[in-house]
Amino acid sequence: MEQLVQKYLSTVNGDYWLTENEYDNLRISYRIKDIIFEQRSAFQDVMILDSYNFGRMLVLDGIVQTTSVDGYIYNEMISHVPISIHPNPKKVLIIGGGDCGAAKEVCKYEEVEQIDVVEIDEVVVKACIEHLPEVSGNLNDPRVRFVFEDGVVFAANKTDEYDVIIVDSSDPIGPAKVLFEKSFYESLHKALKPDGLMVCQSQSPIFHSDVMKQSYSRIKELFKEVKMYTAVVPTYPGGFWSFTIGSKQYINVNPSKVKNKQTQYVNEQIIESCFGLPQFVVNKLEGK
Ligand code: SAM
Repeated sequence: MEQLVQKYLSTVNGDYWLTENEYDNLRISYRIKDIIFEQRSAFQDVMILDSYNFGRMLVLDGIVQTTSVDGYIYNEMISHVPISIHPNPKKVLIIGGGDCGAAKEVCKYEEVEQIDVVEIDEVVVKACIEHLPEVSGNLNDPRVRFVFEDGVVFAANKTDEYDVIIVDSSDPIGPAKVLFEKSFYESLHKALKPDGLMVCQSQSPIFHSDVMKQSYSRIKELFKEVKMYTAVVPTYPGGFWSFTIGSKQYINVNPSKVKNKQTQYVNEQIIESCFGLPQFVVNKLEGK
């Protein structure tokens, strides 16, 4: 067995199982058909595994990030929702997003002229383009520019440059921990144009409600408008997932923008309804 397979997979009755060990009191396991790719990069352990229920999966440090079966839900929600709010997004920054799924969705908008993808780990991008085409697509759009750098450093050096910033980060551990800090949100605010807006994934309202609340509060302190929306992504713990938008000006969605965008999850009804929050989430955000 290769090194990473040994580290993260166990064998039960001759089958490989991946068990996520991120939490003290919760284990999620996937039966694995095949090991497609594994490499220890300078930042993390990168694997592409083929699973029975979720098809091919990108796994970073033993945690599932996206899959060929449900990756479109997350990637469409983190891209089309902010784009449907901005009336004329020309320059988009994606921080993280090495699976290329968010960039693939943003490319569906003709008015976008430039998409900068700032991903810390080139190994993730190469692995997903080669082994996870269901998520990454044939991403060869000339508007996409990859920068392999820490998103925190990149954003800190930008002022008044972007219309939309999408923070497609992994969980707040390892290299992505900094992408949940207040100073990072301050850099994003500075990097946005005077009418720009940002979105980040703000974790599970059930299992990480403190992170969700913290992201929301930090963004609310900085931006004129803040709004949370949710979607169900089966491979994330609890399924139910939150996203937070911080906007300097616009906050109303224009659902018709998503028409004919060849999406699998997002449509006009989803764009209109995704901001409806369950009462326990509202209570949490209001500190009740
Ligand atoms: N959709 C996934 C989720 O919610 O779990 C996350 C997608 S995954 C592609 C996130 C990416 O963020 C990873 O490829 C990781 O390498 C990248 N990343 C982590 N920390 C980063 C940082 N400081 N700067 C830029 N990219 C970072």
